[in-house]
Amino acid sequence: MKVVIIGAVAAGMSAAAKLKRIKPNFEVVVYEKTDIVSFGACGLPYYVGGFFDNSNMMIAREKSKFIESGIDLKTFKEVIDVDTDNKIITIKDLLTKEVFTDNYDRLMIATGASSIMPSLDKPYENLSTLKDMNDGIKLRELINKEEINNIVIVGSGFIGIETIEAAKKLNKNIHLIGRSNRILSKVFDKEITDLLEEELRKNNVHIHLGETVQEYVGNNKIEKVITNKCEINADLVVIAMGVKPNTSFLKNTNIEMLSNGAIIVDECGRTSVKDVYSAGDCATIKNLVTNENMYAPLATGANKLGRIVGENLGDINSSFPGSLASSCIKVLDMEAAVTGITEEKAKSLNLDYKAKFITNYNQTHYYPGREKLFIKLVYDAKTKVILGGQIAGYKDAVQRANVIATAITAKMTTEQLGMLDLCYAPPFATTWDALNVAGNVSK
Ligand SMILES: Cc1cc2nc3c(=O)[nH]c(=O)nc-3n(C[C@H](O)[C@H](O)[C@H](O)COP(=O)(O)OP(=O)(O)OC[C@H]3O[C@@H](n4cnc5c(N)ncnc54)[C@H](O)[C@@H]3O)c2cc1C
Repeated sequence: MKVVIIGAVAAGMSAAAKLKRIKPNFEVVVYEKTDIVSFGACGLPYYVGGFFDNSNMMIAREKSKFIESGIDLKTFKEVIDVDTDNKIITIKDLLTKEVFTDNYDRLMIATGASSIMPSLDKPYENLSTLKDMNDGIKLRELINKEEINNIVIVGSGFIGIETIEAAKKLNKNIHLIGRSNRILSKVFDKEITDLLEEELRKNNVHIHLGETVQEYVGNNKIEKVITNKCEINADLVVIAMGVKPNTSFLKNTNIEMLSNGAIIVDECGRTSVKDVYSAGDCATIKNLVTNENMYAPLATGANKLGRIVGENLGDINSSFPGSLASSCIKVLDMEAAVTGITEEKAKSLNLDYKAKFITNYNQTHYYPGREKLFIKLVYDAKTKVILGGQIAGYKDAVQRANVIATAITAKMTTEQLGMLDLCYAPPFATTWDALNVAGNVSK
């Protein structure tokens, strides 16, 4: 049995490693267009900001370890075409420019996603995305230059906001431009984004919401960014406008995709074409609450569904129960997390839901370090089953969201959350934890 995997990061290498462990006799070939494998992009904003210095720390497992395990890892090889009728792929060697073909019995597509770029009339030296290792190295070098002070970040999603953390650590002057009228608008409801925006403003980040860039002005370097509302001086521009799945090389196949190009997969990672699997940022993942095929490009889902695909490629029947798109972010001194569905999502699906937003505390008032916690629960109006939760605060917010993720998975009601036996000691919680309180008031 010959299995070919395209893409050697979270989804691809999770599958390859799992498959080789369970089926050492299978031939496992991985094609990767760069020479960087098993790379955790999640560390990039902190590498750029100088929270750590060795970029290799973002490599989860060395190339040599995969090769020693028997995986035939081929780097600088870009797959440019797939013929699923004849089970043949076409590859371009990016070093020699040679084009050749290979065959497979089973195929996994784990090609991830690329940054969405604005249309530019020329390349600019001081413009970068933050998606891969090369971006990280370039951006770190640029942002550390003393003459670079005004940082303009275009896009107010996760990567844009995390870039603020990096720029702030280096005491830069930051402008954030977002097309939507809220930051992180696709992720959190307004109660939470209001708090996060306040935190940014408090720290002198200039937020431009409901604005779109109309022009980048400059020759080799951008000097000014013109939006529909103002002009901003720029020494460095970071593009963080979201990502799109890397699936255009599949144009000659009948693999079903969403309108954004994400490959539709079932809970086993199977695509609509026999013997072709996919996972990670190039594919959908099943939403545990709504059962929809959603696009949630997160490392968590890529690793988990990647491993499930590895098992299925190796004839172990496994399925992924579904994702809550649980995600979290540090916004300067604040932290915030979301799991399950937001109120906006519940509304858009016309669900019979209720939502409750409360303010409480992470711990007792007499022990040093008490901070406010802001919790929002979304739940079924009739059954009170919890559908989603969002938490923000200055301390202990994110880990509490994991309790809500567990509650949603177990289909717990708000009443059960209210009585859940959570632990308590004065430095960590109150006798009725903030989550118990949120559950109890969500009637
Ligand atoms: C700055 C940043 C911060 C992030 N922070 C978080 C976080 O905190 N939490 C979280 O859960 N997620 C985070 N993510 C998302 C996370 O990194 C991704 O979800 C994860 O990397 C997806 O893994 P993947 O294997 O699907 O795809 P990728 O990591 O994109 O890897 C795909 C690989 O396929 C290769 N490839 C593409 N096309 C071809 C081709 N045609 N032929 C051969 N090879 C090809 C690419 O070169 C690449 O190496 C972050 C992402 C970024 C960029």
